[in-house]
Amino acid sequence: MTAPVQVAVTGASGYIALHVIAAQLDQGYAVRGTLRDMARGEKIRAALAKHTEVSALSFAAADLLADDGWDAALADCRYVMHVASPFPMVDPKNHDDLIVPAREGTLRVLAAAARAGVQRVVMTSSVAAIGTGHEDKSSFAEADWSVVGKGGEAYAASKTIAERAAWDFIAGLPAGEALELVVINPSLVLGPLIDPDGSTSIEVVRKLLAREVPGCPKMGFPLVDVRDVAAAHLTAMTNPDAPGKRYICSTEFRMLAQIAELLNQTFGPQGHPVRTRELPNWLVRIVALFDPAVARIVPELGRQRHFDNAAIRKDLNWQSRPMNETITATGDSLIEMGII
Ligand code: NAP
Repeated sequence: MTAPVQVAVTGASGYIALHVIAAQLDQGYAVRGTLRDMARGEKIRAALAKHTEVSALSFAAADLLADDGWDAALADCRYVMHVASPFPMVDPKNHDDLIVPAREGTLRVLAAAARAGVQRVVMTSSVAAIGTGHEDKSSFAEADWSVVGKGGEAYAASKTIAERAAWDFIAGLPAGEALELVVINPSLVLGPLIDPDGSTSIEVVRKLLAREVPGCPKMGFPLVDVRDVAAAHLTAMTNPDAPGKRYICSTEFRMLAQIAELLNQTFGPQGHPVRTRELPNWLVRIVALFDPAVARIVPELGRQRHFDNAAIRKDLNWQSRPMNETITATGDSLIEMGII
């Protein structure tokens, strides 16, 4: 029997990374997940064991902010999924708290991958690296890049700067060093959790179901299912047409009130009614004066952004679930895990 192909996934504790790891283990890869805190390994293994066979899963310690550990983490790997990057609910006062780990961590991972003779790195970027800072534009494709410092917040800057640094790194490799890079740019990711330590993206559904918000600001999000994001990462890992490309991974745009309506219809009868009324923009702007999490959404009021997914569908034969299924699966998961 031949040994399974070894892959590494950075930030194995994360919401998306756990789905990527589950999909890789399902397909027979041996997975080494990096963690900042190795003490979390057994809890993560137990969570994944509810979904798949975990005997080929191991962990290695590495932090995006330090050189230590990356060579050992990526040794003998054919593929690396670079998923880790800070994604907090509220922007830090100092934007470098996000930009530095995102950019320097990406460069550390790529340099270690090149040293280890890795064939391909798949990096998780974001539509935040594509559509931020363009006031006059509402439709975006892969050729678009966010404008850093123009209306965007620290998170968008961190994703844009890190992705640009990754492409510059690959372009600067000496001839003969053939490290390949593919970038996946998801929109707001929803769908079931593998581990109850959720992600910032799940907060939208959690806050609605927990009735922590008085209603719905007039804003929305382009959405994608976490299982479809994981599948995109896996196809990007081996598809011969993918290297050198970034792929928008997104489906439809939904207003918050539409998401709330669906949650209310589905979970209201189960004892979880959801507030569905739209809040006037003036009220949201007043609350934003006191609440930084609300201030972050003010630029999105009344805006719709659409991200073209033609390239990922064509090149990677990517399929996406209906968003109603994704939104209800998110609610089911939050309730099953006792988070709601
Ligand atoms: P998440 O659950 O918060 O995962 C983030 C991961 O990054 C965690 O494993 C975290 O480790 C790790 N990390 C943060 N700072 C680190 C550091 N200094 N060193 C090492 N690891 C560090 O978020 P997610 O939603 O899964 O996001 C994963 C990736 O997808 C990120 O790159 C994010 O920008 C991107 N993305 C997410 C969405 C979305 O809607 N969820 C959309 C587009 C793109 P700890 O557990 O130790 O903190």
